[in-house]
Amino acid sequence: MDNNNSERIHCLIIGSGPAGYTAAIYAARANMKPVLYQGIQPGGQLTITTEVENYPGYADGVQGPEMMIHFEKQATRMGADIRYGLATKVDFSAQPYKVWIDDEKILEADAVIIATGASAKWLGLESEERFNGFGVSACAVCDGFFFRGKDVAIVGAGDTAAEEALYLSKLCTTVHMFIRRDEMRASKVMQDRVKATPNIKIYWNTDTEEILGDKKVESVRIKNNKTGESQVIPVNGFFVAIGHQPNSDIFKGWIDMDEAGYIKTIPGSARTNIEGVFAAGDVQDKIYRQAVTAAGTGCMAALDAERYLSARAIL
Ligand code: NDP
Repeated sequence: MDNNNSERIHCLIIGSGPAGYTAAIYAARANMKPVLYQGIQPGGQLTITTEVENYPGYADGVQGPEMMIHFEKQATRMGADIRYGLATKVDFSAQPYKVWIDDEKILEADAVIIATGASAKWLGLESEERFNGFGVSACAVCDGFFFRGKDVAIVGAGDTAAEEALYLSKLCTTVHMFIRRDEMRASKVMQDRVKATPNIKIYWNTDTEEILGDKKVESVRIKNNKTGESQVIPVNGFFVAIGHQPNSDIFKGWIDMDEAGYIKTIPGSARTNIEGVFAAGDVQDKIYRQAVTAAGTGCMAALDAERYLSARAIL
């Protein structure tokens, strides 16, 4: 190993969403001298949303990117060392744990907090990208409120899509739900609820061809993949709920995960199967996925890390 290119620290935090920054705030205040690497999307998923109205403490709401600047400033003010760089490889075989940054530098850390988040999956349409933030969203709980009393569409047929369609049905006039097969993947109870909701209109065997509009979403063109028939449906919002991908690839083989790649934590803690390695935020949460729950688990991870380091007289 090239010693000039390695650095020894107590606490390394990987990821810069609400989980990572909250872990950094707590770790810095506990004198753990945390180093946080931001990854390729500093600020995480919130930097691609607009207005955030459900994060407690912001009485008038806040823009997602602005909120993440606040998180970063607070972590920096507490003394966290925030750096730009991507964790590309890990070796958790022995203490201190090794994490490669940008395939070059090696961080050797007593405790590692994984807060690398998850990324929403998208359909891959050009119009979907163009209207992202202008009517296209991957989070009904974040953005549904802006479509109160309006018509929206949602794509997907898993538990997330079912849950989001039900959430939207309470706010919106009509929820048009596009399902690519003739059945839903969601659990039976969720399917039953969706089917029993009068203002959710299900379109089976349906693909989205294009989202249409001038500056924001105005309608969507769909096609029945059995009959070939196309139609245009007026909507103001278009929600994509086709799953998320946890950003956990580099930890495979080291950290226990479920079949979808979500990191398993020991219930009631942020601990993973490896002592001294903790996980927080969306990389270990496929259910709630909220900024506030991510921040909460970031706090748990830092407190668990502090106990771990104290018990070993490292701090
Ligand atoms: P899933 O992978 O379960 O479902 C994704 C859905 O999106 C599938 O119906 C799939 O269709 C559809 N889809 C994928 N790609 C496309 C595409 N290109 N075009 C159209 N449709 C597409 O993801 P979820 O996020 O729903 O759930 C992930 C996990 O989290 C699951 O295990 C779920 O049970 C769990 N979960 C649990 C909740 C709870 O317990 N409250 C809440 C939310 C999630 P197809 O079926 O044809 O493949």
